[in-house]
Amino acid sequence: MTSNPVHQGIDLRVFARYRGDFTEEADVVVVGSGPGGAVVAHGLVEKGLRVVLVEEGPPIPPADFEFDGGMSMARTMREGGLRTTRGTVMPTMQAIALGGGSLVNSAICVRAPEFVLDRWSRDYELNKTTRTELDPHYDAVGAFLGISPTPEDVQGARNLLFRDGCDALGYSSEPIARNVRGCRGSGECFTGCRSRAKQSMDISYVHEALEAGACVLTSARVENVLASGHRVSGVEGHVVEPFTGRPRYRFRVNAKVVVLAAGCMATPVLLQKSGGLANRSGQVGENLRFHPGVAAMGTFPDRVDPQFGATQGYQSLEFIKRGFKLETLWAPPTIFAVRLPGSGMAFKERLGDLPYSAVWDAIGSCNRSVGRVRARFRGNDPKLSWKLHPEDVGLLMEALYRLAEIFFAAGAHTVLPGVSGLPEEMHTLEAADVLRTHEVPASSLVLGGNHAFCSTRMHGDPRRGVVDESGRCHDFENLYVADTGIFPECPSVNPMWTGMALAHRTAGCIADRI
Ligand SMILES: Cc1cc2nc3c(=O)[nH]c(=O)nc-3n(C[C@H](O)[C@H](O)[C@H](O)COP(=O)(O)OP(=O)(O)OC[C@H]3O[C@@H](n4cnc5c(N)ncnc54)[C@H](O)[C@@H]3O)c2cc1C
Ligand code: SF4
Repeated sequence: MTSNPVHQGIDLRVFARYRGDFTEEADVVVVGSGPGGAVVAHGLVEKGLRVVLVEEGPPIPPADFEFDGGMSMARTMREGGLRTTRGTVMPTMQAIALGGGSLVNSAICVRAPEFVLDRWSRDYELNKTTRTELDPHYDAVGAFLGISPTPEDVQGARNLLFRDGCDALGYSSEPIARNVRGCRGSGECFTGCRSRAKQSMDISYVHEALEAGACVLTSARVENVLASGHRVSGVEGHVVEPFTGRPRYRFRVNAKVVVLAAGCMATPVLLQKSGGLANRSGQVGENLRFHPGVAAMGTFPDRVDPQFGATQGYQSLEFIKRGFKLETLWAPPTIFAVRLPGSGMAFKERLGDLPYSAVWDAIGSCNRSVGRVRARFRGNDPKLSWKLHPEDVGLLMEALYRLAEIFFAAGAHTVLPGVSGLPEEMHTLEAADVLRTHEVPASSLVLGGNHAFCSTRMHGDPRRGVVDESGRCHDFENLYVADTGIFPECPSVNPMWTGMALAHRTAGCIADRI
């Protein structure tokens, strides 16, 4: 293999610029450019280390964003956005692009509550993972990305009605803090922020890492971690065509340290396909957990024009200890349309209600609902099994009731809870009571689970977890994991900031040890 030529200035390799097989040398190779990998790569290059960041997806600039939801998913998401769990069927989306999930997410940043981190510390022997220990890492990431509450002038009616409903009921609510600078409230975070207000990794941590001298290989899929005894020596894989994934050239990166940040689904698959690495505990790919989400639509007498306003601008943590978080939501209408009941004229009339409607969602902290990630016999996509626990079905139904309650308190005349077997629409809170009194099977709920964790969990005891508190695999001296797979349980709030805080800590630990 020969060395690929390093380009003048910034060393960002894109598919069209690869010329053949190549080998790179690095102090640290980081696999995956999502929130976890980007933070680690930046932290280490800042310390003067030679960092190679490898990302399977291509860079996707604003000119290539697709405004249509389906078209966008086909380009930015793994399996075209159609990945689901088996057992309880739930769609789950993972991005494939420079920046990982940060390119398509709503930029919501919430620190994991103290009671959650106390439980992690106690139950998983993690003495240095309390909120006090993690706050400096949250602070550092927050300052770098400009994380701050969504200002009122970009909230739009969809978000402010939620606040009004919570106020009327005496429930706490607040503007959501996000990693954005200069948001104009266009509500299109899901298909990519065309105004580049969202500080996704490609324009924040990865960009700064490139400026500081990192080499970033895009359209490069890692397929094997090279290991011998208790040490790893690098990774190898193929340059792949964007969007088709067809392999083109071979590459290898030799490194003193390997950091896997390929995401909660891909990292366990990579370990499994590399000969079953880091699995003396038997926990690689086990313990998969989600924040399953449910959503309800409320229709108001006056226009809401829900397409205007920050994608997710308001939240309520009123029920966080009960086990769910409430938020406002927006996505391209095609995404919501598939959830609307009816067909023909009835469906057409529902679509006509959209300008008068708002969609709000709830995410459940469902630790009882557990699954597993396994490598498929062929290909690199995971096989996901997961089951929503009956008590968590009840929890999500209660969350839907609370959403209905807030809708009616905000002045909605109709609520569509989207639960099969129950009335399609409800006009009073009394009618909505059925949401918390009627038992339904998991299959009655329209679920979505884009927050995924725990598949390579952190545990102080090497017999019960894959990595230690620094993110280092218990079985290896120089192999680390830095994605949300290391969470020991659900964080109860949106995971990205916690993932980045842990990655920030991991970068510091690696720099101290190398
Ligand atoms: C639509 C959507 C909205 C969301 N909204 C929010 C939100 O507002 N706030 C929040 O906190 N969370 C949100 N999330 C979740 C959040 O985006 C993820 O938790 C976060 O991106 C996880 O970061 P990560 O670094 O662990 O993994 P990822 O972001 O998944 O990054 C992993 C990267 O590794 C790459 N990769 C995988 N395998 C390989 C390989 N073999 N070789 C090379 N590269 C590889 C992937 O292409 C990807 O870019 C959302 C998720 C989605 C899908
Ligand atoms: S709401 Fe619009 S402008 Fe604001 S961060 Fe999202 S996509 Fe960008």
